[in-house]
Amino acid sequence: MIDTEHPQWLGDKATKGTIHNWLNYHFPRKRICSKCHKKGKTDWAFLKHPDSYTRKIEDYAELCRKCHMHMDKIPQIQPRTHCKKGHEYTLSNVYVWKNRRQCLICKRIAGRKEQKKYMEKKRRYGYSN
Ligand SMILES: [Zn+2]
Ligand SMILES: [Zn+2]
Repeated sequence: MIDTEHPQWLGDKATKGTIHNWLNYHFPRKRICSKCHKKGKTDWAFLKHPDSYTRKIEDYAELCRKCHMHMDKIPQIQPRTHCKKGHEYTLSNVYVWKNRRQCLICKRIAGRKEQKKYMEKKRRYGYSN
C-alpha cells in the first residue's frame, strides 16, 4: 500500500515555498518589521543566503518588503566566485594582487596570445632574438 497521507511532505528537502508555509504556520507574523518597526505587509526573510533554507527560527527575520528587498541585494556584494570569463576561482587558479583577485587561466590565455603575437612579428620582421 502506498502512503498518500502526506504527499506534499518533502522532509528536509525544503524549498522556499514549503519553508515559508512552515514558518507562517509555527511562527505567525506580527506584521511589524523587525528592522524598521513599520507596520504593514511583512515576510520571513532568510538571513543566511546563499545557504539553503533551515528550520531554525533564529535564521529568519520578519521584514517589510522594503527591508527585505534591501537585504536580498547583499549576496550581490559578496565576493565573486568566477572571473569575467566565467572561470571558477579556486586556490590553484587565482592569485591576489593589490587586494584584487586575478584569474590565472585568463592570464595564461592572455600570455599565450602575447607570445603568438610576438612570434608572428618575429617571423614577419625577422627579429634577431
Ligand atoms: Zn522594514
Ligand atoms: Zn578567467
